[in-house]
Amino acid sequence: MGDRERNKKRLLELLQAAGTGNGHCADCGAAGPACPCTLVQSLSSSAEILLFHPADPDWASYKLGVFICLHCSGVHRNFPDISKVKSVRLDFWDDSMVEFMTHNGNLSVKAKFEARVPTFYYVPQASDCLVLKEQWIRAKYERQEFMAEKAVSPPGDREGFLWKRGRDNSQFLRRRFVLLSREGLLKYYTKEEGKTPKAIINIKDLNATFQTEKIGHPHGLQITYRKEGQTRNLFVYHDSGKEIVDWFNALRAARLQYLKLAFPDLPESELVPLITRNYLKQGFMEKTGPKHREPFKKRWFALDPQERRLLYYKNPLDAFEQGQVFLGSNEQGYEVWEGLPQGIRGNRWKVGLTVITPERKFVFTCPTEKEQREWLESLRGVLSSPLSPLHLLTTSAKSG
Ligand SMILES: [Zn+2]
Repeated sequence: MGDRERNKKRLLELLQAAGTGNGHCADCGAAGPACPCTLVQSLSSSAEILLFHPADPDWASYKLGVFICLHCSGVHRNFPDISKVKSVRLDFWDDSMVEFMTHNGNLSVKAKFEARVPTFYYVPQASDCLVLKEQWIRAKYERQEFMAEKAVSPPGDREGFLWKRGRDNSQFLRRRFVLLSREGLLKYYTKEEGKTPKAIINIKDLNATFQTEKIGHPHGLQITYRKEGQTRNLFVYHDSGKEIVDWFNALRAARLQYLKLAFPDLPESELVPLITRNYLKQGFMEKTGPKHREPFKKRWFALDPQERRLLYYKNPLDAFEQGQVFLGSNEQGYEVWEGLPQGIRGNRWKVGLTVITPERKFVFTCPTEKEQREWLESLRGVLSSPLSPLHLLTTSAKSG
């Protein structure tokens, strides 16, 4: 066996070595390197690996000593002074590089660069948008924000300009936003030097979620809050990825601060999932009315798993929802069925689902079978989870 082959074999063994964390991307947790087919392939020759995995190479930073996925390797390329990447399977690795990877590895490098990640900081996963992953990777290695010797100061108050989509037109306009962390308020102003805010948003009712596809901007952030029993949506972005992610984490810090005051007896680990939330599923479906004889109309749906609401809109970027379906639990008689009730047919779309609540049956049709499957799975997930005492507490506080 030549050096080249021997080193490749050693690297592949390192990817699966127990207790190293190398089987998951060091930055987004993607399980690429540890996928079962890789496991099988590692037993055979590397020639076969190249044959079976031509488009899915695993990557590593040989300057930092971590194994990462293809997507994260793209971010690492932006700061070559700190990180240099190679493909595990396709590039040449010399002995000293393999030695370095053996002595480092994902868990030990994580202990160094993630020594002090603040509780409120959003650590992205593989399914998150690029700007979140990019800023996490840069904060970690390039700016080294989370190393043990770094003094951590909570973000606190924040002020700056964001591009905000107009409520009644699709134009984005520059608006001044002010976050008052201690007061638990976010304000925004239409006039640059204005004294009267256009809106004062209570942190208690606020959620923030990156919605880059829906907003049509790689840094698009959706901020929601309760207003007169409805959910108001704001769509904003900043040209700088760092700025928008800093805003997001500042809002999260303020949310955690509020949650700690509101629920002083709960451990922090139970509050963290409540800081912000992402929709479990979004997309177009068609719905009919309560009699099921009304014409089916196309609506945009968003499933909020924490508030257990299926919200629907005429258009994805509407300021307010048109309506919502509260999703209780199976024990309370809520269910979702595959298909439409007998005798009911959709308009354009054939496949569908029926949500049963104590009050009525909601009938929806989906554009494809794949969409139908995903909606069924997501809705079942919410309905099968019991209402937690905390959920009852937070929703009753919100719908007041
Ligand atoms: Zn990754």
